[in-house]
Amino acid sequence: MQTYIFTTQEILDLLSDAGVKPSAQRMTILRYLMENRIHPTVDEIFKSLLPDNPTLSRTTVYNTLRLLEASGIIRSIGTGGGDGTRWDYSDHDHGHFLCTSCGHVTDVDYDSASTSFTLPPEGYTVHSADVIFKGICPECSGALK
Ligand SMILES: [Zn+2]
Ligand SMILES: [Zn+2]
Repeated sequence: MQTYIFTTQEILDLLSDAGVKPSAQRMTILRYLMENRIHPTVDEIFKSLLPDNPTLSRTTVYNTLRLLEASGIIRSIGTGGGDGTRWDYSDHDHGHFLCTSCGHVTDVDYDSASTSFTLPPEGYTVHSADVIFKGICPECSGALK
């Protein structure tokens, strides 16, 4: 998997450009998503960060994710709602493949300009379009075995 490393300044700039007041916990949570492109759930983020951030609460992680999503820095990938929602740093336009057997989410490159679909009517401003393919991954189908 590709490794991503960001400086504190890069993360500060990203937050202030989006109008989000930087705090140590917000930066920690955003850095985790930027450097770990594994589409984690809120529990996975919380459990990964807790050892180095003992004062962090699950509620803080959840509220921060919602705030970062509202500011357009990250996005949620609905996989049935509730705690199963997965989170992704949205630095580039891409779709996702969700394995309905193991729940693994994989990035899928797609060209939104050449994808044919009906745009919302006049008066609606589109900020993003989510493409989620659902099916069975190679590990689950046994194709790689
Ligand atoms: Zn699978
Ligand atoms: Zn993704």
